[in-house]
Amino acid sequence: MGFRIIIVGGGIAGLAAAIALRQDNREIIILEQSPISQEIGATISLQPNASKIVEGQWGLAATLKERGAMVDEAFEVYNLDGEMQMRIPLVTKDKYGAERMMYHRADLHEALKHRATSPTFPGQAAVLRTSSRVASCDCETGTVELASGEVLSADLIIGADGIKSAVRGCVLGGEVNARPTGLSAYRMMIPADELQQQSEFAKVINPRKGCTTMVIGQDRRLIMGPARNGTIYSIVALVPDESMNEDSRITSWTTKGDHEKMMKTFADFPDWAQKPLQLAKGSALGLWQLRDLDPLPTWYRGRAILIGDAAHAMLPTQGQGASQAIEDAEALGAFFHEFERTTPVNSLGAVAQVNDAVFRCRYDRATTIQLYSRQAAKPATEPGNRKVNMNPAEFMDYNCSYNGARDWCK
Ligand SMILES: Cc1cc2nc3c(=O)[nH]c(=O)nc-3n(C[C@H](O)[C@H](O)[C@H](O)COP(=O)(O)OP(=O)(O)OC[C@H]3O[C@@H](n4cnc5c(N)ncnc54)[C@H](O)[C@@H]3O)c2cc1C
Repeated sequence: MGFRIIIVGGGIAGLAAAIALRQDNREIIILEQSPISQEIGATISLQPNASKIVEGQWGLAATLKERGAMVDEAFEVYNLDGEMQMRIPLVTKDKYGAERMMYHRADLHEALKHRATSPTFPGQAAVLRTSSRVASCDCETGTVELASGEVLSADLIIGADGIKSAVRGCVLGGEVNARPTGLSAYRMMIPADELQQQSEFAKVINPRKGCTTMVIGQDRRLIMGPARNGTIYSIVALVPDESMNEDSRITSWTTKGDHEKMMKTFADFPDWAQKPLQLAKGSALGLWQLRDLDPLPTWYRGRAILIGDAAHAMLPTQGQGASQAIEDAEALGAFFHEFERTTPVNSLGAVAQVNDAVFRCRYDRATTIQLYSRQAAKPATEPGNRKVNMNPAEFMDYNCSYNGARDWCK
């Protein structure tokens, strides 16, 4: 029998792990709890450290370009007077070997899913099973039990089941929950055309430009960027978390946002800066309570290893959550490369040894970026003063200078 791998979770981390681990005679099953495996509508940026893996190593540049992928050319930071406080060019190919890219999340997810599960790529295609929620796992025997009671077994189990991971408790021998960070995020997408017609806004910001724009007003900020060749504009509105900013009875971390409440929260932003929020009335408005994890004591036990948000959920302030998940996946691919040629796959010790190597290679880097992300979330203006004192490029060299796990750990 070949090397059998179960991946719990069909998000960015799980699909990326399937791509990285695909090899002939490897059976990879991805177990996804939701009935349809898809992403939300929002822009996601991949930093050069991850775009070089996805577009270069995994060959998805052309597919993503067809779907309207854009190069993110700069960070532009504005104060509430519409004055640009800083512009940081992000044309990063020469410096970091790849560009910072902007995708529609659904497009990135679809491209990864196809690359993981289509037989047209090298190695045995992974099988994606939807409506398959994992309830628990045994890290020594390599079994997972689904909520339905079905039990599956494998030589390697990858917990890519996100911030509320079920596998995490099995690896750590007890629950470790993500902690509220004091921030919530509204997310919405609007047609760029409509925004461009708003002259007060368009005088300051061109929503079609490949650029990440922040508008900062003390403890609230808008982080915005285009997707699909500049036809749609994605807005993340960060606000202090008052138990989901809306209703303290809400216990889920993700809910539908209330447009009126959001507008009240941004009432002291000037009219030009409120325009994107006003235009989102009637469109899908989501609200996320932003949580992250403290660094975990370990990410693996026996045959099971955690990756992505399950291992190191972080705030979105460095735009590195998905990028770190992709680095984790690439590391699994590199360390398990041709594993079964030299090792009996049913050897618990041998699998655990490789999991240990992956963990040692990845832990310091992902943890550092997790902590940078917390640091970058602090208010960027003093009360009563509109001058912005933050530098979105502060951690860029560390974050983006990366050429794969083998190179990082040599
Ligand atoms: C507002 C915001 C903006 C962000 N912007 C960026 C950005 O620009 N760039 C960036 O790199 N990152 C960004 N991130 C972070 C990024 O979205 C996450 O880090 C990334 O999606 C994590 O991927 P994941 O696969 O680990 O987890 P998820 O995306 O959470 O996927 C986990 C999957 O596992 C499934 N699952 C969960 N439990 C089970 C179970 N028990 N059994 C089976 N399946 C299960 C879930 O249904 C889901 O499909 C942002 C995050 C937020 C909140």
